Amino acid sequence: TIGAVAIDILGNIAVATSTGGITGKLPGRIGDTPLLGCGTYCDNRFGGVSTTGHGETIMKSCLAHDIIKRIDYLGEDAQTATETACNNMTERFFGKGGAITIDKDGNVGISFTSKRMAWAYQKLNTMHYGIEKDDHFEQIVDQN
Ligand code: ASP
Repeated sequence: TIGAVAIDILGNIAVATSTGGITGKLPGRIGDTPLLGCGTYCDNRFGGVSTTGHGETIMKSCLAHDIIKRIDYLGEDAQTATETACNNMTERFFGKGGAITIDKDGNVGISFTSKRMAWAYQKLNTMHYGIEKDDHFEQIVDQN
């Protein structure tokens, strides 16, 4: 998967998700990625999400929608909503996956139940990135 979430200065949120699917997929399989609420979802009032992982599991849990609704109905922050939804998904449906989230204030949420998930974002002059569980590396970005 390649997934991206972004917010502009006016508060417009955009999300995009692209995938080659999973190994051994049946011809005609659509998967979660293009399905709004599963692989991709955003609502300017709350945030945006892009997901990766076992598509059938992500579809059963409507992962991207679940994260946004947790922010909406429960008032969870982006990180809590992302973590809780990913963990609930794997607990209930067993498949693994992850998500990146941005909320309407630009806060970021990143979580995955898979072994690893490459992620990165930049805030001001600092690049944040990781791949394994509990990774959080930072690097100052030269603005010139
Ligand atoms: N979610 C994708 C699928 O199941 C796989 C991926 O790219 O993460 O088709």
